[in-house]
Amino acid sequence: MTDLQDLYQEIVMDHNWKPRNFHKMETPTCSSHGFNPFCGDTITVYASIAEEIITDVSFEAAGCSISKASASMMTEAVKGLTITDAKTVFSKFHELVTQTGNAYEDDASLGDLVVLAGVRAFPTRIKCATLSWHALKGALEDEDTVSTE
Ligand code: ZN
Repeated sequence: MTDLQDLYQEIVMDHNWKPRNFHKMETPTCSSHGFNPFCGDTITVYASIAEEIITDVSFEAAGCSISKASASMMTEAVKGLTITDAKTVFSKFHELVTQTGNAYEDDASLGDLVVLAGVRAFPTRIKCATLSWHALKGALEDEDTVSTE
């Protein structure tokens, strides 16, 4: 189990140091700013939507390693998906980080996100892990600002 935890830690650190899609988008079709008051994490998620498909997604963030790594993984997981499918992935991810022993621990659509299942043991970190998703949802639903609380 320790080896597995080391691997998980390594994936989180990799996304934290080399976040994917970490830049401001010049002409997004929608964006939303998210704030997690419990940890102080802030994020802006940008998305480009064409015919209900998320053709591009990026983010800018300041905060803890969990929030940044989760945002990086989120952008990889939803790019190319329809809005409906992206929301389905969000609900799977939300279950993954809040419920023990759920069915999504081996779900391919979650990609690297499965490594964040460990945050369920730390309730305050769940908001760090889900912040970017709330911001994505906010962008898709035309809400300028979202908060984890
Ligand atoms: Zn945080």
